[in-house]
Amino acid sequence: MDPEWGSCSLGVFICLGCSGIHRNLPNVGKVKSVTLSRWEDSEVKFMAENGNKTMKAKYEAVVPVYYYKPSHKDCQVLREQWIRAKYERKEFTEEFVETGGKLPYEQEMREGQLMKRGRDNGQFLSRRFVLFERDGTLKYYTKHDSKVPKAVIKVDTINATFQPEKIGNPNGLQITYRKDYCTRNIFLYHESSKEIVDWFNSVRAVQFHYMKVAFPGASDAELKPRLTRNFLKEGYMEKTGPR
Ligand SMILES: [Zn+2]
Repeated sequence: MDPEWGSCSLGVFICLGCSGIHRNLPNVGKVKSVTLSRWEDSEVKFMAENGNKTMKAKYEAVVPVYYYKPSHKDCQVLREQWIRAKYERKEFTEEFVETGGKLPYEQEMREGQLMKRGRDNGQFLSRRFVLFERDGTLKYYTKHDSKVPKAVIKVDTINATFQPEKIGNPNGLQITYRKDYCTRNIFLYHESSKEIVDWFNSVRAVQFHYMKVAFPGASDAELKPRLTRNFLKEGYMEKTGPR
C-alpha cells in the first residue's frame, strides 16, 4: 500500500485504509495527507526523526508469536484492534512489559459471554464461553449456571475466521472445529470489537501453548503457521448451517 498519509502524532507514514483507523484514535490520531495537507516545520522534523522503522522497533518490540498481525486484506475489526493494541494500548512495547503490563490473551482461563447463533432458528443468544489453557479446550454452556458444557472443543482442531458478512455483524467470528471426525461450525459475535479480537488472539495463545507442549522440539517459526489464521482452511467443509 502506498503510504500517502502521515500520522503527525506518531511519526509514521500510513496508507489511506489505515489513516481512517488512525484518525479515530483519541490521543494519537493526528493524520495528514502527504501531498495535500499543510505541514508545519516541526511536524516535518518530527517525521524525519521518527519514521516507520524507528517506530516499528518501539511499538512492535515484543509482539507475541501467537498474536495475529493482520494484513491489509483482513477485515476492519482485526486491523483496527491491531492498531489500537499497538499505538493506543502500547501492548507490544518494552515499557508495557517493564511496568508490569499483562496481556489479556495470556490467562490460565478466559471466561465471558458471547452471542452465538442457534442451530435451529438462527437466533443469536448469549452463551457463556470458557477457554482453558491447561487442558487446551474451549467450552460453552447454554445456561449460565450449568455445570455440564454444551460442547467441549479441543483448541488444536479449531480454525477461527472473521466472517462479518456471513454472520451479519462487523465483529462476527466463525469457529470451525472437528468432533468425532465431523467438521462443525459455530457463529459468534460480541458487541465490543476489542472483546472479540481478544478472544481470537486468546484462542491462538492457547493453541500455541498446546503445541509447545505437544512438540517440544519445534521452533516458534515452525509452530506459527499451525495456529488458526484468518481464512477458511482448505479441506474444511464450508457449511453455513441453518440461519
Ligand atoms: Zn495501511
